[in-house]
Parts: sequence; C-alpha cells; structure tokens
Amino acid sequence: MPIDLISDTVTRPTPGMLAAMCAAEVGDDVFNEDPGVHALQDYAADLFGHEAALFMPSGVMSNQIAIKAHTEPMDELICEETSHVFRYENGGYAFHSQIAIQTIPGDHGRLNAAQVAAAIKPTADWLPRSRLVVLENTCNAAGGSYYTIDQVRPIRQLCNERGLGLHLDGARLFNALAETGESPREWGAEFDSLSICLSKGLGAPVGSLLLGTKTFIAKARRLRKGFGGGMRQIGFLAAAGLYALKHHTERLREDHAHARQLAAVLAQQPYVATIRPVHTNIVIFDLAGELSAEHFLSSLKEQGVRASAFGPKTVRFVTHLDVGGEAVEQACAVLRKLRF
Ligand SMILES: *Cc1c(COP(=O)(O)O)cnc(C)c1O
Repeated sequence: MPIDLISDTVTRPTPGMLAAMCAAEVGDDVFNEDPGVHALQDYAADLFGHEAALFMPSGVMSNQIAIKAHTEPMDELICEETSHVFRYENGGYAFHSQIAIQTIPGDHGRLNAAQVAAAIKPTADWLPRSRLVVLENTCNAAGGSYYTIDQVRPIRQLCNERGLGLHLDGARLFNALAETGESPREWGAEFDSLSICLSKGLGAPVGSLLLGTKTFIAKARRLRKGFGGGMRQIGFLAAAGLYALKHHTERLREDHAHARQLAAVLAQQPYVATIRPVHTNIVIFDLAGELSAEHFLSSLKEQGVRASAFGPKTVRFVTHLDVGGEAVEQACAVLRKLRF
C-alpha cells in the first residue's frame, strides 16, 4: 500500500467504524424514518448547541444549500479570496443562488471585521445586497491555518449590526479545535449555520453536516431534495459519521504532529525552496531550481509515497488517520533519500 498524502479524504473506515456501520438501524430518510440519521443529527445539533442538523452527501452540497437558504437572487456573498466556496465549487453560488460574490484578500485565508465592514455595499438600486459572510476554518488553500474564536466574534457583531448572515465552512473545523482547545459549542454560538465534513480528517467514508435553526434546516431539507440529495437507508453512513464524531476528533493532534515532522525533514532538503507555515494537517511547499511538481511527485510515487501538486512548482501533503507514525517515518526516510 502506498503512503497516501494526497488528501485526508482517502481514509478507509476503521474496524470500529465498520462495526458501528453494520450495527446501524435504518429506515427511509426521505420519509424522515431513519433512526441512525436521527441519532447523528441530534448528537451533532447538541454538540454545537444548534436547534437542528441535517446529514448531507458532501461538503459542497452543504455549503451550496446553506448559501441558497440564506440569500435571494441579486444578493451578495462576502468571503476570503482563497475560499472553497469561491474557488472550488464550480461557481455554484452563481449557478444555484444567482448571487454576486465579493472576495477579500485575507491573512493566510483569514478575514477581520474591518475588512468585512469595508466590503459591505451601501444600499442602492444598482448594487447587489450584501447578505452573507462565509468564513472557512481551517483555511484549506491557505495551508490549514485557523481562526481563534476571538477573531470571529467582531465579525459576528458586525453581521448583527448590518443584518448579514454568517456561515462557517467548517470542513476541517475539528482540526482547528484540536489546536485551540475551543469547543464546538463556542463555535456554534457565533454562526447562523455551520457545515462540517465527516469525510475529511474525521475519517468517515462520506457525508457532511449542516447546522442551524429548525426553520433554516427545514428549508435546507427541502432544498436538499431539490438538489437531488434526498437519500434512503443512509443510517449506515450516518453511523460512520457518529462514530467519527465520538472517536476521531481527539486524535487529530497526531495528524498535526505528523505534518510538522514531515515539514521538519523537508526543511533540510536541498530540493525544497520554501515551506509555508504548518498550522494543522496540511504541508505546502515550493520546489527549488528547475524541479517541477510533476517530476518530484513521480519520483516520490516510485518510492511508494503519493501526494498532489498545488501549482507547477508547489506540492501539498495532507496527513490523516490512515498514515500512522510508522508510515510517517517511512515517508521521512524517502524524503531524505530523494536526489534531483
Ligand atoms: C473538502 C472541502 C469542502 C467540500 O467537501 P466535499 O465533501 O469534498 O464536497 C468544502 N470546504 C472545504 C474548506 C473543504 O476542504
């Protein structure tokens, strides 16, 4: 088996997770009759202190439905310029919600309240109506950097004052919480809606959660059906998600230590030009001289390590549940041995 640093989405269910999946009680979730799904949604809503939660097939659908539920056509979404909702969701904000977008260059993916305040449009017939702010935590394209809750509170206050909604793309929120020690409840309190991926660092095979008020989630549930995301006996998948929430959040610190370990070895190699600061489970680095990401990655693959290009000369490693301490040691040995 190659050591797979391509993404934290490549994990296979652990024996404990598989056992939980096999033991799931299921029903037809389109009729709202799947006890496994209810167990997951109720657990998550309570964990974040929100009224309700909805199991989603993917993080993209969760974000897109949240955006649609918060906005009307000709409204505007404000986000950081490297945001997933802006860069990697096929312009879904325009396609599904018919809204405008205002991006802001942040500090490693993070915005502050003054920047958001400056981006909010005044009221005029010819301007889109600024309606929703989307923050991302951790910031994926910015290399897994994270906000602390103190950095978010002034943005929340601004949104309250100006009548904007605040959504969190928390695909990797638990990676941030593993570093800050903050709680899901503290984060739940600051957002109108949150989207959490179960299939990233938490290690479930599929699924995301959307959290919000009962009214918001009822709207999201109708939209999910309209998006073709109504699912039947998904208690099996919900059981994996519930297992992940209960058993795989604490261990994320190991992934972060592994990322730092890989970065420390990379820092000593002549073929590495620069390494972005490592915050959580993502390592992004630029190659020196003439070395291309393509060439580097094919040499790495020959040695049994897979990773992905993040630009013509930029490479990304992501650590996760299926890369244990021994595999990281092995990957470090390969990195030390490579010559170009
Ligand atoms: C992966 C990711 C998503 C989307 O999740 P999918 O389940 O792949 O659709 C959304 N936002 C961020 C920040 C992500 O990293």
